[in-house]
Amino acid sequence: MQSRSPAERRDQLVALYREASGCVRCPLHRGRTNVVFGNGNADADLMFVGEAPGHHEDLQGLPFVGRAGQLLDQLLGEIGLSRRDVFVCNTVKCRPPGNRDPQPDEIDACRPYLQRQIELIEPKVICTLGNFATKLLTRSNRGITGVHGRSQVHELGGRTVRVFPLYHPAAALRSTGTLAQLREDFARLPALLEEPPPVPIGAVAPVAAAAVAAAPEPPQMDLFD
Ligand code: URA
Repeated sequence: MQSRSPAERRDQLVALYREASGCVRCPLHRGRTNVVFGNGNADADLMFVGEAPGHHEDLQGLPFVGRAGQLLDQLLGEIGLSRRDVFVCNTVKCRPPGNRDPQPDEIDACRPYLQRQIELIEPKVICTLGNFATKLLTRSNRGITGVHGRSQVHELGGRTVRVFPLYHPAAALRSTGTLAQLREDFARLPALLEEPPPVPIGAVAPVAAAAVAAAPEPPQMDLFD
């Protein structure tokens, strides 16, 4: 599939932003000040997906502008990147009341916006921050403690993409051990961004395809009792 030009990408993201700004797909719209669509570089190789906007994000309409956002900025700086190089958004675009966890129906209602953002931005690597984004984009129930810092390959937004789960910066603000681990995982990002694109899921490498073609038929009767 032909990629969009950076200008097309940006225009289509702006159109999506306008659509999301009036969204009433779930009850979270009733309590919001602003839809927090996400921001950053529409042409980014690296995308971060957090959980949900908090108080400051809701007021400003921008993701990760509170303390967790300051830590995200610092960690990006330590690997030579800034918010201008990446795109940052959340699994849900409106603040849950009292910063409660986003509910499954809210995540589901908002999912098409995230899906379209991934489709338009075409990132090389998506960092999922914390449990909610990780479980959503890896389509698994495995929590962040078991999967952080190891890249996975998934079909997302019509492409095969590397997903790199990370602890949520808010969790790192509460525990020095988590912060050290998050920093260690962040340090692996530059190399991950340099890796060649993953082999599309479902594609069989030529050598493997030849081996499959040459393999004798399995004796079908051995497969059953
Ligand atoms: N935490 C998140 O998950 N997202 C934000 O935008 C801010 C804090």
